[in-house]
Amino acid sequence: MPRDRLDEYRHKRDFEATPEPAGEVDHGAGARRFVIQQHSATRLHWDLRLEEGGVLRSWAIPRGLPWDPKRNHLAVHTEDHPLEYLEFEGTIPEGSYGAGDMFVWDRGHYDVLSDKDGKLVIELHGARSSGRYALFRTGDERDWMIHRMDPPEDSERSWPPDGLRPMLATPGEVRRGDGWAWEVMLHGLRVMITTLPGEVRITDAECNDVAAAFPEIRRIGRATGSVEAILDGVVAGERAAIDKRLTSSASTVRKLRDTHPLRVVLFDIVWLDGHPIWDRRWDDRRAELEALQLDDAAWTTSAVHIGDGDALARAAADQGLAGLVGKRRASKYRCGDESAEWVRIDPATSV
Ligand code: MN
Repeated sequence: MPRDRLDEYRHKRDFEATPEPAGEVDHGAGARRFVIQQHSATRLHWDLRLEEGGVLRSWAIPRGLPWDPKRNHLAVHTEDHPLEYLEFEGTIPEGSYGAGDMFVWDRGHYDVLSDKDGKLVIELHGARSSGRYALFRTGDERDWMIHRMDPPEDSERSWPPDGLRPMLATPGEVRRGDGWAWEVMLHGLRVMITTLPGEVRITDAECNDVAAAFPEIRRIGRATGSVEAILDGVVAGERAAIDKRLTSSASTVRKLRDTHPLRVVLFDIVWLDGHPIWDRRWDDRRAELEALQLDDAAWTTSAVHIGDGDALARAAADQGLAGLVGKRRASKYRCGDESAEWVRIDPATSV
């Protein structure tokens, strides 16, 4: 069989095992379609594929398409894929090349503005991505970068800041009426989690980087995908278990992850897709958090009860729970502040 542009693609795969298409070079193709697939493989990445010459030229981009012309992203050039891959979504089974879930993140058509040796300038016209990008080779065949040439589509967009401290509750009393929302107080480590495409940062209340202690929680990046967010929550657990994570070597942490997995309970969001949302009311932030549908073994979203603080306080006391935190539903998020708009009800004072 003569060598064609899909030989490497076929060579890497067992089509008895994977649902991916085997494919043929389509010499009748004239249009210029593209697809971007979010691929949760060994490492999360976004595959950009451009129709050309009857196949799809492909790059794996660990941080996704850049929105900021000042930050170029690595783009690993990969083998050409067949045109059927424009539609491919599914799970590539364990043990196969590229094992993991893949779905179409965006698709559309594109124009080639220039294509010289090792430098390709394109304009994307997709549902989620549009504008001019340059792909350029920096080393051997695989080493490429992608650069956004146009200004950000959203001129107000910025990167999430480092060094945010969580808002703190003050000791208080149970309030009546539905102007307040109540959550069970959790023991553990308060954390701020920053998600970017391909990166998750976890800091404690003093802004120390604690990401290495919680590898299972770092995988939340696979659930947030391309969403840029700063989330507030508690890694629930006994102080001793948390301290053990924070002071152990990487190999011990990996063992503890398997034997004593931990989970973060998320209850707020203060940054979303390039913008602070701390000045929006709790209700609005809560709706944004719930829309992310973060619920898995290592992360979940807190349960809240609107109003009826008295009943919940009695129930909490009866069940020997830790106590309650009440949040005024109209309150803004005040980073680092102790606020009377968040009150903590300790068990001894809850009834
Ligand atoms: Mn891939």
